Amino acid sequence: MDDPLTEITRYLVLKRLAGDTVAIMSIKEYLIDGLSPSTIGHKYNISKFRVRGYVQRVVDKARNHLVAESIVRAIFPYVIEVEPIVLKVRGKYVCLKCDQQLPKEKVEHHIRKKHKDLLNSVVQEIVLTVRRRAEYM
Ligand SMILES: [Zn+2]
Repeated sequence: MDDPLTEITRYLVLKRLAGDTVAIMSIKEYLIDGLSPSTIGHKYNISKFRVRGYVQRVVDKARNHLVAESIVRAIFPYVIEVEPIVLKVRGKYVCLKCDQQLPKEKVEHHIRKKHKDLLNSVVQEIVLTVRRRAEYM
């Protein structure tokens, strides 16, 4: 297990590369903006249980709600600027790096397997930037 900062950054960057911005916005709006799971779920047309699931994954990695909040606050602006490499085109998911069509449930697995170097370098860059700026130690 890496430190919580790296773990949470990897979780969010993977979602972002996969084009799953709803997961990232759900986590941010719950932890930072203080919106309720049902408000967030209604906004993005997902269940409140799914919103809780996303948040729980992040809180588990930090083992603490306040630590999770401060990490997400520090990394969010960098994560949201990462360009997704998987796009949803007419209901199908396409990896722009290898021009391959993927079923929805295989998207994150594909990125972890085939684009591991890209994932690691983006995570590393964000972790270093945030540490350098002392936004989160
Ligand atoms: Zn690919």
